[in-house]
Amino acid sequence: MLRLLTFCSLLGLFLGTPVHAAEPIPVVASFSIVGDIVSHIGGNRVNVDTLVGPEEDAHVFDPAPRDAARIAAAKLVVINGLGFEGWMDRLIKASGGAPKLTIASEGILSHQSTIDGHERIDPHAWQDVGNVRTYARNIADALIAIDPEGGGLYRANLSSYDDELAGLDQEIRAAISAIPTERRKIVTTHDAFGYFALAYGIEMVAPQSISTEAEASAKDVARIIRQVKSEKIPAVFLENVSDPRLAERIAAESGARIGGKLYSDALSKENAPAGTYIAMIKANIRELTKALMP
Ligand SMILES: [Zn+2]
Repeated sequence: MLRLLTFCSLLGLFLGTPVHAAEPIPVVASFSIVGDIVSHIGGNRVNVDTLVGPEEDAHVFDPAPRDAARIAAAKLVVINGLGFEGWMDRLIKASGGAPKLTIASEGILSHQSTIDGHERIDPHAWQDVGNVRTYARNIADALIAIDPEGGGLYRANLSSYDDELAGLDQEIRAAISAIPTERRKIVTTHDAFGYFALAYGIEMVAPQSISTEAEASAKDVARIIRQVKSEKIPAVFLENVSDPRLAERIAAESGARIGGKLYSDALSKENAPAGTYIAMIKANIRELTKALMP
């Protein structure tokens, strides 16, 4: 009898009380852009903790012991992948936890960039909005896998977010096509816009490689200055995660103008123009259009 009762009360507990009701699911995102996508898909069923926050540079992130504790508390960890978070494996090991790890860029067509004669995979895939539609699907799949009860919400959020992303992609294409072809080229500090260049047909030149870790050499800077002059590149852009002095020097010595600031590897703070991924891309389009339209 006692056993039956226990069974019944357990069953009642099981059917009557949804497990998620009390606590949102703890998810760690490696950096601000992935964190924003997770928030859009997860809504209030998830609690997103972002390791490398707004205006911070994930290339040179140095995890602290408290970051291992944040990983240990997570049920799911979402990273960009493509070698962007070189510090993550060590951090997960240090945490002692075994969270499910999702690589948001899984399945995208990656491309390479040459650094000092070596081919390396370019991690900045989020600069092509088409890729972020894949990120969002991967993140939705991961959330459904750990929280099947939330499947309806995650699918609905994915569907409306995907519509917004498709519209954003069209918006970029329309903006770029309005710029005269010979003016569709810019200089940025580090080579973060390879995917943008490829997807939307704009030429990007950078003195610093696909990581901000190594400084640009004097030779690279001199080469860029010559290239800006010979190709009449209209504008040199600053980036939110890079030191502005390099871009300023190239502009001063080449006669190109400073075109404003592009958001490359991080969102801005919430109350600034690039607080979400979609706002970030829109801010970049505004800056490009302003600088490149004759
Ligand atoms: Zn970068």
